[in-house]
Amino acid sequence: MPRYDYDLFVIGGGSGGTRAARVSAALGKRVAIAEEYRFGGTCVIRGCVPKKLFVYASQFPEHFADAAGYGWTVPEASFDWPTLIANKDKEIARLSSVYESGVEKAGGDTFHSRATLVDAHTIRLEGEDRTVTAEHILIATGGRPNPHAALPGHEHCIFSNEAFDLPRLPKSIAIAGGGYIAVEFANIFHGLGVDTTLVYRGKEILQRFDMDLRSRLHEEMTAKGIRIRCHTIFERIEKRDDGMLAATLNSGDVLFADEIMLAIGRIPNTEDLGLEAAGVETGARGEVLIDAFSRTNVENIWAIGDVTDRVQLTPVAIHEAMCFVETAFKNNPTEPDHDCIATAVFSQPEIGTVGLAEDEAAKRFANLEIYSASFRPLKHTLSGRQERMLTKLVVDAATRRVLGAHILGPDAGEMAQILGIALKAGLSKDDFDRTMAVHPTAAEELVTMYKPTYLVKDGVRTTC
Ligand code: NDP
Repeated sequence: MPRYDYDLFVIGGGSGGTRAARVSAALGKRVAIAEEYRFGGTCVIRGCVPKKLFVYASQFPEHFADAAGYGWTVPEASFDWPTLIANKDKEIARLSSVYESGVEKAGGDTFHSRATLVDAHTIRLEGEDRTVTAEHILIATGGRPNPHAALPGHEHCIFSNEAFDLPRLPKSIAIAGGGYIAVEFANIFHGLGVDTTLVYRGKEILQRFDMDLRSRLHEEMTAKGIRIRCHTIFERIEKRDDGMLAATLNSGDVLFADEIMLAIGRIPNTEDLGLEAAGVETGARGEVLIDAFSRTNVENIWAIGDVTDRVQLTPVAIHEAMCFVETAFKNNPTEPDHDCIATAVFSQPEIGTVGLAEDEAAKRFANLEIYSASFRPLKHTLSGRQERMLTKLVVDAATRRVLGAHILGPDAGEMAQILGIALKAGLSKDDFDRTMAVHPTAAEELVTMYKPTYLVKDGVRTTC
C-alpha cells in the first residue's frame, strides 16, 4: 500500500503545471493536478494565445490599406468585436480541453478545484471538500496583474484579464505601463480603431530592450497615431456621471477615456495557498523561494513558473517543468537554464530580440562592433507604407562572438527564435558572414552586414 495517494500533486493547470503533470504521469507516476479556473492558465486563457489572436485582428486595417498599391480595391471594411470575442473563446475552449485531456490521457487525475496546502504532504481540494496526500507537491499557480492598490480609483480600471472579454470595444483607452503588456495592448486597441494613449513612468518604453529598438518603436507607434506620454503616471482615477473615466496625471493634466487599463507588472499567486501551514518560505513580492533546482525550503515541495518570479515567460515555465521532472523522477538533477532567452514583443512593428542590448554589452565588454541596418521592407515599396525595419547585431570585437541580435519589423519574433539557436551556440560574426543569404528576405540583412556601423570603446560610441 503506497504511503501517499499520489506520487505528485500539481497545484495550477497552466503551461508549467500541466507539462509537469503530463510528463510525470507518462513516466508511470501517480499524478493529480488541480486548477481552480480553467486548464491552460494565463498563457492560453488570458495571455499569449488570445493576445496574438487580437494582434492578428488589429493588423487587418493596415493590410487593407497596403493592398491598394498592389492593385486591389478593398471595399470599406467594418469590424465586429463580439465576433472576434466569440471566435477567440471557441479556440481557447478547444486549447483548454487539450491541456486537460493531455494529462488525463497520460494517466493523471484532473480536478476543477482550488487546492491549498494543509501540511507538507496534504492538499485540501476545496471544491470537493476533501483532502488528498502526495509524496511530491509542485506549486505552479502563476501570477496575476499587479492591482496597483496605491492608486486612488484603481477599482475603476481594467487589467489584461478583462481586456480579453470586454462587452464592447471602447472608443478610447488609456494604458499605464511601458512593458510587454502595455505596449502590445496599445497597438492592439489602436489597430482596432480605439483612440489610445500610453502612459509610462520612465524615459522610454520597454526598459531592458536595446535603446535603438525602443526609440524606433516609439516613433513608429506615434506615427500611427498612438499617444505616448513618458515620465508620466496616473495620480488618481475618477468615474464621471456619464460613465467616462477621468485620469489625473502627475503633470496636472486630466485625461478622459472610456477604459483605463493598468499593465504595471504581475505578482505571484501565493495568497491563502497554505504555504505557511506547509512551512514554505516566500520572498518580498510573495514569490515562492526556490533553489537552483526549483525545490523550496521544504524538501518534497517544488515550485515553477511565474509563482517563483524568475523569468515570467511561458516557455521558461515549461522548461522549468521539464527540469523538475528530470530532477524529481529521473534521478538526473537538472537546473533550468535562464541564459540567453530569445523573446518577442508583439507590438506593431514587432520586436524580436536575443542576448545583450548594446548598453548592457558595453558595461561588460571593452570593445564592441555594432552592425546595424535600417531599410524599407520590400512589401512596403508598393504599399507606400513608410515604416522601416531595423536589424542590429552587437559583437564582442575581441572574440567576434555575437552577443546580441535585435530586430524591429515584420516577423521579428520568428527571426528571434532562429537567432536564439545561433546565439545560444555562441556563434561568431564570422559564422554569420559565411552563411549564405536567403533572397529576397528581410532576414538576409543579418548575414550581409559586413562592415561595422560603429564601434563602442569603453562605453563610448566611435566611428570605424
Ligand atoms: P513588465 O514588467 O513588462 O512591465 C511593467 C511596466 O510597468 C514597466 O514599464 C514598469 O516601469 C511599469 N510599472 C511598474 N510599476 C509601476 C508603477 N507603480 N507605476 C507605473 N508604472 C509602473 O510587465 P507587464 O505587466 O507588461 O507583463 C508581465 C510579464 O508578462 C512580463 O514581464 C513578461 O515577462 C510577460 N509577458 C510576455 C509577453 C511576451 O512574451 N510577448 C507578452 C506579455 C507579457 P519600469 O520600466 O520603469 O519598471
